[in-house]
Amino acid sequence: MARRIGRVVRFHSDQVTVVDVNDGRHIDLKLRGRFRKQGIRPIVGDLVEYTPDGYGSGLVENILHRKNELKKPSVANVDQVVVVTALKNPRVSLATLDRITVLAEKAGVEIVLVFNKIDLLEREEMTELEELERVYSKIYPVYKTSVKKGWGIEKLREVFSGKVSAMAGLSGVGKSSLLNAINPGLQLRTGEVSKKGRGRHTTTFSQLLELDFGGFVVDTPGFSSLELKGIDIEELKDYFPEFKNVPPCAFSDCIHVAEPGCSVKRLVESGEIAEPRYKSYLAMIGEIEKIEREEKRSW
Ligand code: GDP
Ligand code: ZN
Repeated sequence: MARRIGRVVRFHSDQVTVVDVNDGRHIDLKLRGRFRKQGIRPIVGDLVEYTPDGYGSGLVENILHRKNELKKPSVANVDQVVVVTALKNPRVSLATLDRITVLAEKAGVEIVLVFNKIDLLEREEMTELEELERVYSKIYPVYKTSVKKGWGIEKLREVFSGKVSAMAGLSGVGKSSLLNAINPGLQLRTGEVSKKGRGRHTTTFSQLLELDFGGFVVDTPGFSSLELKGIDIEELKDYFPEFKNVPPCAFSDCIHVAEPGCSVKRLVESGEIAEPRYKSYLAMIGEIEKIEREEKRSW
């Protein structure tokens, strides 16, 4: 039979479930023996070539090139990471938000920011949110939502439509609630307590959930570890989009910390680059230096 292309939505005990990219049908496949011999396995999100056997099953022939790959959980070909934050219940620090965007930038995925729970905000907090929106919307698309009031949900549906998305953000910010709101059929469990149990005991593999209006979402949040390990000092600047496309610094290898003639620092002073973002950057540089010192010591 002719080969077809499917997207892996689930992979468990050698059984690969794919959704055919042309007709949207679900089909359970087996792996060809050579995959095991070569130590290659598909991961969720992979696009695979398969041959149907004509009886509702088939064989995976090839794994197509991955455009990116997130770790913990492992997912391939993610189009965007939707980073969810809140200013209240829980209040997410900008340091945390910036770490998530840095890790997503390193993974090479598009980033969308969602400020959820805006129904909880008092007037001053609303002003704070507007300020954040001003800062972040220069770098990433920003959406403001309330699951409780149904605000911003329709727009968010458009953001997810037709794409493979992963959610990220601290526990309790409303990731599951948002997904249930855009697609009630998902029926994800919400509320922190039940999920802690689920995370600890059962969820060892992830899957892609299909959205009614087209698109997929990873069922477990990405970037559960916010460690900066593996990012070099010289590399970090590449993960702050606003540091790119600035006039050249005096030193071509400038990391925008203490070098003279640094355009990034100049733009921070003039207010063109937001100071809190630059502070996040400096804090992360300090942290990476510490990691590198400790690694040297253990040699
Ligand atoms: P997750 O851990 O990020 O998946 O967060 P959940 O979706 O489990 O939500 C955590 C808690 O916040 C639940 O009790 C939700 O009902 C509540 N919640 C979620 N979104 C909103 C919102 O927009 N406004 C308010 N007031 N509560 C929300
Ligand atoms: Zn510089």
